[in-house]
Amino acid sequence: MNDINNILKRENLSETEIAALLSLNSEEDIKALFERAYSVKTDRVGRTVYYRGIIEMSNICSKDCLYCGIRRSNSNVNRYSMTREEIIDAAVFAYRSDYGSIVLQSGEIKSPEFTEYIEGLITEIKSKTDSQLGITLSLGEQSSKTYRRWFEAGAHRYLLRIETSSRDLYGKLHPADHSYDERVKCLYKLQEAGYQTGTGVMIGLPGQTVEHLASDIAFFRDIDIDMAGMGPFIPHEDTPLKDYDIDKEKQLTLALKMIAVLRIVMQDINIAATTALQALDPFGREKGIMAGANVIMPNITDRKYRDNYKLYNDKPCTDEDSDACRDCLEHRIEGLGETIGYGRWGDSKHYFNRIKR
Ligand code: SAH
Ligand code: SF4
Repeated sequence: MNDINNILKRENLSETEIAALLSLNSEEDIKALFERAYSVKTDRVGRTVYYRGIIEMSNICSKDCLYCGIRRSNSNVNRYSMTREEIIDAAVFAYRSDYGSIVLQSGEIKSPEFTEYIEGLITEIKSKTDSQLGITLSLGEQSSKTYRRWFEAGAHRYLLRIETSSRDLYGKLHPADHSYDERVKCLYKLQEAGYQTGTGVMIGLPGQTVEHLASDIAFFRDIDIDMAGMGPFIPHEDTPLKDYDIDKEKQLTLALKMIAVLRIVMQDINIAATTALQALDPFGREKGIMAGANVIMPNITDRKYRDNYKLYNDKPCTDEDSDACRDCLEHRIEGLGETIGYGRWGDSKHYFNRIKR
């Protein structure tokens, strides 16, 4: 315990120390870890939770990641694309509800038509929301030029998870035509284009060890990311990983430990309490906040599509409408003694410190 308290006081941890924190298993030690992370969060980014209303625009995907329910080989999915009007309506809903920001997410589509479509969409959302709504994109791997065009149109944050920073494990979780190097390169392209750049990993993947996870945190620090979205891996029944058994409680605790350790190592970044946490525990996102996260992504996709954007089993809130989500979340967050950053972008403090350097 003494050793642990010494480690917890410091920010600049070695990979071995990070692995030691991730391996803590007594209730008392884990509590000390979460409390330290929460106090770092309070000091460095405050006790405010920022919203990003997520719009799951389309489940059409050209990729075939082995873990994902909407991978192109899954023929049990009803494929959809929201119409342009529906996307804009959802963005305007977010604006009127004072969410401050949205995330546009979809399967990966790469084409000149898609680039142009998204560019036009960003411009229209900006104009319909008096340039007040923050726009994050999560649209996969694209060319530098495409990233730049979308940035210039008004998007300013981008999420692209590395999924695992281990080249070897990445190779096992993706078909041969998916490239680890290209994924890493895209993170640099995003930084060069000017985005607040977010990445993340899945936690509890088959074959993943605590050492892999410690290297993931070191990878985030090396790349100097501004935001992180990490969540537990949850098998999906129509994927090649469907038979992989997870212990929900252990998986959740490990995911919370990752959030806490990352908060201690990268103190001024934005960290999301992801929906996948809630799939494992009805209070998973709240627990994420108490372990150091400061962002939540309420789902504002039209209800009629939600069942078809199942990246993993037991995805929560697929049958609630966006208004119900808003009220339910507000109570839950305020119950933690946190304030909601209504109407604010809640940009990553780290980004501004990074560009100053
Ligand atoms: N196509 C884009 C964005 C949509 S996928 C992309 O891949 O970047 C968004 C995230 O869902 C992925 O980054 C992945 O980490 C997560 N995801 C996919 N399948 C999952 C599963 N079975 N369990 C938990 N998270 C999953
Ligand atoms: Fe497509 Fe993203 Fe799912 Fe991979 S994780 S199959 S890129 S939607």
